[in-house]
Parts: sequence; C-alpha cells; structure tokens
Amino acid sequence: MNQQDPLCTYNGKTKFIIVTGGVISGLGKGVAAASIGALLSGRLKVVPVKCDGYLNTDPGTMNPTEHGEVFVLDDGGECDMDFGHYERFLNVTAKKDWSLTMGRIFKMILDKERRGDYLGHTVQFIPHVTDLIKEQFYRIANQEKADVLLIEIGGTVGDLENQFYIEAARQLSHDVGRTNAMFVHLTYVPIPSGVNEQKSKPTQMSVHDLNRLGIYPEIVIGRCEEYIKPHLKEKIGLFCNLPADHVISGVDVKHVYECPLVYDQEGVPEILAKRLNIYAPPKLEQWSKLVESLKRNQVTPRKTLTVAICGKYMALEDSYASVVEAIRHSSAHLDLRAEIRWVDTEKVENGSVSVEAALKGVDAVIVPGGFGSRGIEGKIQVIEYVREKKIPFLGICYGMQLAVVEYARHVRNIAGAGTIEMESETNHVEVPVIAYLPGQEHIKDMGATMRLGGHDVLLKKGSKAESVYGGASQIRERFRHRYEVNPAYVKDIEQGSLVFSGKASGEDIMQIMELTDHPYFMACQFHPELKSSLLHPAPLFLGLLKAADEQE
Ligand code: GLN
Repeated sequence: MNQQDPLCTYNGKTKFIIVTGGVISGLGKGVAAASIGALLSGRLKVVPVKCDGYLNTDPGTMNPTEHGEVFVLDDGGECDMDFGHYERFLNVTAKKDWSLTMGRIFKMILDKERRGDYLGHTVQFIPHVTDLIKEQFYRIANQEKADVLLIEIGGTVGDLENQFYIEAARQLSHDVGRTNAMFVHLTYVPIPSGVNEQKSKPTQMSVHDLNRLGIYPEIVIGRCEEYIKPHLKEKIGLFCNLPADHVISGVDVKHVYECPLVYDQEGVPEILAKRLNIYAPPKLEQWSKLVESLKRNQVTPRKTLTVAICGKYMALEDSYASVVEAIRHSSAHLDLRAEIRWVDTEKVENGSVSVEAALKGVDAVIVPGGFGSRGIEGKIQVIEYVREKKIPFLGICYGMQLAVVEYARHVRNIAGAGTIEMESETNHVEVPVIAYLPGQEHIKDMGATMRLGGHDVLLKKGSKAESVYGGASQIRERFRHRYEVNPAYVKDIEQGSLVFSGKASGEDIMQIMELTDHPYFMACQFHPELKSSLLHPAPLFLGLLKAADEQE
C-alpha cells in the first residue's frame, strides 16, 4: 500500500463495522446493516460502503428484473437497492464512490498498472487487490470524516468472488486495532417443517467458515421466523465463541422499519458501545411512533386505500421497491393502510384485461418509471381513465412523459402525438411531444449516460406543486432519463388545464406537470420515491394519498 498517501491511511478515529452474511442469500443483509447503522446514526456520522463481487462497473446497465431497482444517488451514481435502505435508515446522502464493485476495483488496478504505478512488480491479488480495497475504505472514512464506516460485504461467505473483500476487511481489522473494528455476521436459523424446532447447525457452520478466513464475528444475527430461544442462543454462543447475548434474533417482521427496534430491544447498541468504546444511545422515538402506526393499521386500519402501480416490470416487484416504500412512508404519516395492486399494463394493452376491471375500486394510481415501447399504450389508457374519472394520480418519469402524450392526443387533439422512445422500424412517431434531451441522441454507451442525479426544480407560484412542497419555491429531486417534454410543443400543450409547474433552473426542461381541473393529477420527470423516508415522506406521494383519503 502507498503509505505516503495520508488520504488512504487510517485516521486513528473511525470505527469500522463489517457485516457479512452466511448460509443463504436473500436474508436481507442490506436491511440488517442499515438497521445497525440506524441505531448509531442519531448521534454519529455513519457512512455505508457496499462491496459487490460482480464485474459490472455499477448496476445502471443491469435489467431490473434480474437485479432489482437501480437506486440513483444525488451525485448521479446508479447503485444497488441497498443504498435505498442506507439512505432511508441512516439519514445520509450517499455517494457513488461508496459502492465498490469488483469491476471498479479491477479497473483501478489495470489503470494503475498501465500508468506504471507498480514499478515493474508483478501485480497480484494479494497484496495489490486487497491493499487497493483497504485504501478505498480508509479514503472514504477520511473524506467523509466518518465516525463509523459500515461495510457490507455482498454475497455469502464462501463465494469466491467476495473473498478479496473479506481478506481486505480482515487485514483492516488487524491494522486498526481491536477497539476500532468488529464483525457482524447474519445467518439463518431454520425451523424445518416436521421438526418444528429452531436449528443452529447452519449458523455454526457458517461462522466456522468465517473463522477459517481468520474472522471472528462478535455479533451473530440469526434470521428466523421467531425470536431465538434462550437455550439456542447459548448453544450458538458456545460453538461460535460468543456470550449468548451476542446472538441476536433477526426475527421476521412485517415492515423492515421494525428491524432497528428489534435490534435495540435485543441489546445491539450496548454491545456496539462497549466493544467499540463509543457513546451512542439510539434516538428512535419518532421512528417507533411511525412503525406503531404501520403496525396498528395492519391490524385495525383507520382506513384502507388501494393504490395501483401500473407498469411493465411486474415479474419482480423489487424493480419498484422505492415506490412501494414511499407509499408506506406516507401511509404511516396519514395513519392508514395502503394496499398495493400491481397492474400489468401489457395486459391492458393487449386487451386481456380492461382498464375498468384493472382499476376497479382503486383509490389512487401511480404510473412509475420505465423504458421501451412495450406496454405503453396500456399505460396511456390507464392515464386517460384516471384523468377522466378524477382518480388521484401520480406519474413518475416515464409516467409523466406518457401523461403528456395522453393529454396531447386526447385533450389537445394532436393526432400522432407520441414519444420518440416508441419509434421503431414499423412505428413512426409523427409528433414527438417527448423527444431526446439535448445531446442524448447519438449516445451509444449505455452506462451512466442518461441525465442522472440531483437537479434543482423551480416551482411555479400558486401551483399545486408549490403547495404540495409546503410553499417552497425551489426543491431538489433525482432524475434518470434520456427523453424530455419537447420544448417545441410546450406552448401548444400548455393550453387548457395542463400546467408545467416545475422547471429546471437555467434549462428548458419541464420537470413537473399538473392538471388544474382534477383533484390530484401530478406528474414529475424525477423520481420522488428516491428521497422518501419514514421520517420524511416524499411530498408528492403524501399529497397523492391525502387526496385519495379525502375522496369519498
Ligand atoms: N424512458 C424514459 C426516459 O429515458 C423514462 C425513464 C424513466 O422512467 N426512468 O426518459
């Protein structure tokens, strides 16, 4: 390692919590890590770092049905859904640098090698790859002046592709000394059917796998359907060299927001404080009130609203994870239960379901972001229906673009109005009311080339958007798009009840549209769901649910 560069050496202050996972994937390591962070973030600056083994530079080019939603950061980074959990739980604005992939690590190594930084030495996995990973950890800790660096290592222990992260973390814990780093391991405690008792063996084996790599976790969280029984905590403790109270029940919960409360109750903050020598009693009062609201409304709802999410990627609800969370945040604040109905717009388009049937009984409708031409005529039918029937509506990104197309076609009578995104060899778009953003037309590279990240939005005085955002004149939201409302048609479209009430500052980009003759018809070019959290729900979602709550 380049010991000369102080930016990449340990600052002597930051504490490191490293979270690994074992037994099976899909146990919610991101939520577990975020929940540990949430216990500390009330008093300390907790900075999350995610280490992924895959070779993509970032998840921006991955299909959401394979990898889940792409979470866009303020700095334009396209990250994993786990960054959604981190931002929502830790009250931080994450940076793209905090997402490490093996693709990025190898690129850095090869760039260094070409520059001659290795001075003729053979470039090896150990020490060069592991050193580079450690340097990233120290650099982020220094740049962010982090009190705690929360490192989540992707995959499960034993995966080849994550071995170098694990080895780098082991070396780091050795370098920084015992009171400055600790490992938390998430495992699975099954209750096999027919046996009907909690089983500790998979956890023991997984911890032993870690031990073989030189790592001794000091907190073991067992995901389980039930709280882990005291005798089983004793047993896991005995075989994993831990006091029984360091074995934590990662009990299944209805809402992920319950996790920090469970960990709190299981004594995690005390272990962290003692072990890392920090003072950080959790501040969870407001959080637990909102969780109570979610739980109460699950059992005895004050009111139940059905919110339809109408889109294409229905195969994997994860592709709209943040939209679902944003609905949940607003429902907690409004003390009601929101049921989600997934509507596949391809079915509406090909006529296998009618719009009326698909939207029967819904109280609010969301058309979220999307790409490509499949299913979009179905979305346009949905938008026409909610506009006419005055059902509260929120269009997001593609949802706004299609709301503009729908209005152009059916209210402004512009025959042939469409989006350039629909154009193909067999389908010519005569009137492109949605067109390429300036400079986007000839881009060939798919990775990180859209208009990405946080931008300011100027709100029109006296508009619904202004009132939804509590009277603000300027807000900041996150974008991910290649197309926009064609400035050439804005004047023509804006006649009637449609108002573009949010615009970019200094650029001719329409960022919010609303209808003045509808109880709640709002659409935005950005993704408000990305900034929503339990404590601070996204205003456009809160407005949608409020409007639905008020409608009879
Ligand atoms: N496909 C549209 C665009 O690229 C919308 C993108 C989105 O919904 N995120 O502009």
